[in-house]
Amino acid sequence: MKNPRRPGEAAQHPHPLRHSSSLRSSRRRQQFRLQVSSPVAKGPDAMPPPPCSSAPSCLLPSLTLRSRRTVAAASSPAPAGEHGRRPLRYAVLGAGFAGLSVAWHLLKHSRRDSRVSVDIYDENGVGGGASGVSGGLLHPYSPKVKLLWRGAEFWKESMDLLRSAEQANGTAGSDTISLDESLIWRRGIVRPPTTEKAADILLENAQSCLESCGLQVLDSDAAQHLIPGLCVPFDFAVYMPLALNVNPKKYLQALFSACQNLADETSSLPSEPKELRLYKHHVDNLHQLAGDYDSVIICLGANACSLPELANKLPLRSCRGVIVEFQLPSDTVEEYGNQSPSILSDAWMAFQGPRTVSIGSTWQWKSENYSSTVSDEEALTAKDELLPKASGVYPGITKWDFVHARAGIRAMPPLTANGSLPLLGCLDEMIGKKSNCKFWLVGGLGARGLLYHGLVGKLTAKAAISCDETIIPSEFICWKVMKPSQ
Ligand SMILES: Cc1cc2nc3c(=O)[nH]c(=O)nc-3n(C[C@H](O)[C@H](O)[C@H](O)COP(=O)(O)OP(=O)(O)OC[C@H]3O[C@@H](n4cnc5c(N)ncnc54)[C@H](O)[C@@H]3O)c2cc1C
Repeated sequence: MKNPRRPGEAAQHPHPLRHSSSLRSSRRRQQFRLQVSSPVAKGPDAMPPPPCSSAPSCLLPSLTLRSRRTVAAASSPAPAGEHGRRPLRYAVLGAGFAGLSVAWHLLKHSRRDSRVSVDIYDENGVGGGASGVSGGLLHPYSPKVKLLWRGAEFWKESMDLLRSAEQANGTAGSDTISLDESLIWRRGIVRPPTTEKAADILLENAQSCLESCGLQVLDSDAAQHLIPGLCVPFDFAVYMPLALNVNPKKYLQALFSACQNLADETSSLPSEPKELRLYKHHVDNLHQLAGDYDSVIICLGANACSLPELANKLPLRSCRGVIVEFQLPSDTVEEYGNQSPSILSDAWMAFQGPRTVSIGSTWQWKSENYSSTVSDEEALTAKDELLPKASGVYPGITKWDFVHARAGIRAMPPLTANGSLPLLGCLDEMIGKKSNCKFWLVGGLGARGLLYHGLVGKLTAKAAISCDETIIPSEFICWKVMKPSQ
């Protein structure tokens, strides 16, 4: 080994979307009736009935506007958040990495003597956006192994969330779990340089690393011992033994279960109840929610810009990414070792087991394609781009068979002196305040959603609970003075 480094709340309220223009069509009215009569479901994609004990306004068609107001006033809720009164109501828009982290931290950090209800809205259910598609690579370094700004905090918070999700999954601290049960596909990532310039930069950057997620510089023998068949053109590779390759869909479902458990636990404690609901609804605009919530936290990934109140106001650029999946042919005996790490190079190779690998990812900046499905033509183009990059460091990949491709859209933030940071903060000024509801953004997680989601969710939940934006470091808020992307 050469130059080794030290490893380093029951609510008396109508369903919030009931008044929305989006429910005017007869199809949607029918959907609404179905929701009212359906039993409460617990699965991540299930949509529970609205928690409605007062007569829904849509069932009072003969009332005049004035009498409707009288009905509303008679059943108007008590002040929010006080003991024995109506709950503090939060709407979290989006059930990806950002939304579920916010929901978890809202439930975790709300005062024990506050009744709290968290409603999550996602048209596709848990993990239906970029998060569920992602490669699941998790470490606090740049592609050239430079420790990222606030890397230690980001890493710690993402590990804390992963542990909570593992507990909910029943796999915390267990060494004998199957790949199907585990939230983690693989541990460790190896980064071999492919150009002289990259080799120099990697060696320099590897000088400083986190103790909680160390870096080791391995010579060719050590690197090839870890990954037989690895190509090491500059005679060394940087190894991150504690980096992870997370199964993103499974992780998100476990994190949603962790949120449900956290809400359920409060019913057995001497504290005010906390409630969590998931609505599989499309959100058309923010104002339809404003009257029903104390805070709305927008975690819609690249789709945040499609809300009319935010159109052309956020400095975000969308970037489509395609990932191609390969498998070893059934007649190939030799497998990719279970202990061998994943590979990060000009393309990354995330091995999910001994016979399956995802290779990513393309960067299509000008694409207007927001679909998660990939046409045969697009898959072929992605394969042609990614396979040569992958075989440059792992030539054996050419013997693997292409299986399918998947795609997601990254919400890319602007580059700042501290790197490409997520966009956080209160949006009341930008949206124009017409109610007491506060609006918050968790956006622009770029290509590092897994690393960023823990800390950004915690900071934003705490800011929303205390109605205090100063809890969020200014570096995450400075985007407000930037020119929006068109
Ligand atoms: C190909 C690819 C590979 C990636 N690989 C990695 C990786 O290995 N590691 C890593 O850390 N990051 C990776 N990323 C980045 C990561 O996926 C993102 O940073 C992260 O998913 C962003 O999370 P989010 O919660 O902000 O957005 P999303 O996950 O997109 O969540 C937004 C949610 O909002 C819902 N939604 C949107 N609009 C509406 C609406 N109007 N009404 C209701 N619901 C709505 C969507 O269904 C979606 O579930 C990758 C991204 C891509 C595209």
